[in-house]
This record gives sequence, C-alpha cells and structure tokens, in this order.
Amino acid sequence: MEDLHFSEIIARAGLKAFNNLPKTGKPNSNQWTVLSCIVQENNSCCEVVALGTGSKCIGTNKMSPVGDILNDSHSEVICRRAFLLYLYEQMENALLKKESIFFFCQKSLKFKSNDNVKYHFFSTMMPCGDASIFPKCDDNNAGDVVGIEKCDLKDDRSVNSYEPLCKTMKGNDGDIYRTGAKCLESEEKKDPRGEGAAYHITGVVRTKPGRGDPTLSVSCSDKMTKWCYLGLQGALMSIYLEEPIYLSTLTIVGNTPFCTESLERAFYGRIVNLKLFPPYEGKKMIFQQAKDSIFHFQKSDQKEVCPSSIIWYKDAKKSEVAVEGRKQGITKKTKHLESSRLKICKAELFKRFKSLYQHVNSNIDSLNYRQYKEIAKEYQLNWNVLKYYLGKWPEKPNILLELNQ
Ligand SMILES: [Zn+2]
Repeated sequence: MEDLHFSEIIARAGLKAFNNLPKTGKPNSNQWTVLSCIVQENNSCCEVVALGTGSKCIGTNKMSPVGDILNDSHSEVICRRAFLLYLYEQMENALLKKESIFFFCQKSLKFKSNDNVKYHFFSTMMPCGDASIFPKCDDNNAGDVVGIEKCDLKDDRSVNSYEPLCKTMKGNDGDIYRTGAKCLESEEKKDPRGEGAAYHITGVVRTKPGRGDPTLSVSCSDKMTKWCYLGLQGALMSIYLEEPIYLSTLTIVGNTPFCTESLERAFYGRIVNLKLFPPYEGKKMIFQQAKDSIFHFQKSDQKEVCPSSIIWYKDAKKSEVAVEGRKQGITKKTKHLESSRLKICKAELFKRFKSLYQHVNSNIDSLNYRQYKEIAKEYQLNWNVLKYYLGKWPEKPNILLELNQ
C-alpha cells in the first residue's frame, strides 16, 4: 500500500466522501463552494462521519428567533452540526447496546468516549476571519506556500512538529490575503484598511462576510477557536458527556493558500495564560496542508458562489440540501411547517437533545431551553472565562430559550 502522509489520508477521505454524494446541492462547473468534513480515527482506521458544504450566511433580517432557520451555512459550521447528529446517534446506539464509540456510565449518567477515538477536521479553504489574514508569499502556487514536511503525524503528533514558513508575517512590506469578515460594530478596534499588511488588524472577533444585510454570525476562525477550548459538542450536549470532544488536527486541501502561523495566531495566539475549569482544558491542534489533494470547486473570480449547502453525517439515510437556511424546494406555503426544517437547525437539534434526555433521566420533567443550558454549568463557566479573553460576541434574538416544545 502507498505510504501516504497523514494530511493526504484525511484529505482523500474528505474528497471521496464528497464525490460519493448525489449531485443535488453540489456546485455546477461554473460555481464554487467550500467543503468541510470531520474524519473519525478509530484504531488507525479513518472515516468521514460528518460533512458540510457552503459559504453563505443569512442577514439579520432573515434570522429566526425560534431557531427554525439555519443562520450560518459556512461549511465548517454545517459540518459541526452534522457531527452533533452523528454523536446523538452514537449515544442512542450505546443505550441500545449497539455498536458505538460511546459507552454509558450508569453511575454518572453520562457517556464516555472510547479512548482510541480521535477527530480530524478537513476543509478546502482557510476558515474565514482572523486565520485568513496572512502574507501573500512570492510563490504564486498557493499549494506550495507553506511546507509541512516536518509534520509527519504518523511519527510525531506534538504541536511543535511543524514549521511556519510565512516568515514575512510581522513585516509591513508585501501584500496580505484579506478576509471579508468585519470587526464588530460595537468594538472600538477597526481595520485601518491601509496598504498591504496595514489593511487589517488581527486578534479580534469578526462577523461573517456578506453584502447587504449584515449578519450576526461570527467568523469561522472565532467559532473554531471556541471549539479548541470548549470542544465541538456545545453546551447542551456537554450535559451528556464526561469529557468535551476536541479536534486533533486541521487539514487544508492543496490548491488554496495556507498558513500555519495565522491559524496558530487566530486559535491560540490571542489567548494567553488561559486557565479553564475541568473537565475543560483545551487542546492544541496540528495544522497541515494536503499539498497533493485538489478540490475541483475551489473559489475563483470566474466562478459564482453555489447557493446551496449539503448536510451529511454517517448513518443519515440521505443527505439534506439547504438554501437560505431551509430545506431546498420549500415554498411560501410550506416554509413554516416542521417538515421544512433542516435537521441541524437549532430547534431540531434541541428536539434531538430532549428525546435523549428522557431516556437518560426518566425521572426529570421536561425543562425549557434556557433551563437545560443552565444545567451545563461547567460549560457556561468556561465559556464566560473564554469570552473574557476573546472579547464580546454579538447577541442574537432567541425566543427558543423560553420555549418548551
Ligand atoms: Zn467561514
């Protein structure tokens, strides 16, 4: 068998999972999109367990306060939510004594993950926001901008095993890649928008790029930073887990600009001396580029953005396709029906959470969203600590908090 670099194993698994999906929701030859996957490694077997595509985000006016619309359709965010569905499925399997990555501990009434399981994130573009701000190196072949020869994960998974090659990062000469993600209105710090490296400031929370109606969703760099410290599972699911679920690596496909230094800065550099309360401790990911792997729907000036998103996870009977935060093909008449909701919208994920809650805690009455979130004390405590370092995040309208259905 070919001896592949670990980054190529991850990238090939992600691209293959995308290729295996039906055409619905995929870009046509004149369109581009972003693909993200979560690859599960279990006893050195790697398989994609969640996948998302897309690069759109709805504006504030289209947001739903009851959580029946998906506000943020960036592939990274879709992929994480699809991953939550995968995890719920695995928890239900564990309760039913079926094959699962979890086992249920009767004493703590929580699920514990099999120790051998690791998760790897794959994406076809750098996350929008802070991590996307880095120097344009002389080499125009974007795939060769950063070398990762020293990062052989099969031998050494310590975070010091890579070398950032974008050495001009701190210099003011030369141009930089820019992000469309904007500094928050409420913050004093703003991009100076000067020449070259003086265009952006770094280390601030940003909202997602978009024309027209501004969005309240923060950039993928900010959301992924949160995952690095608090895990992928979010507040509600943390109630079920003995430990948070962290990512081990982040792999970016070959034919796109890449920089380990900007990822390091965005995820870890802006938070110094952070002390979290157990079981949270944060985990450093290894960053790598799969230089030999190519995504055919990469962004270019000649292409238009693909308006739809694909949502898929392992064990899903079929993938879902989303347009503007709802299932593709719904009409004005059907758009308020529950059947028009995406399985990964906040309201549907809450339903999924509650159905499991009744199995695990059969003696507890049903609570509302806010009350459940309050049960996740450790998560909320650590989230407050993290926000102290990161700065404020925009508040979203959320009536769902008080609903009990
Ligand atoms: Zn993004």
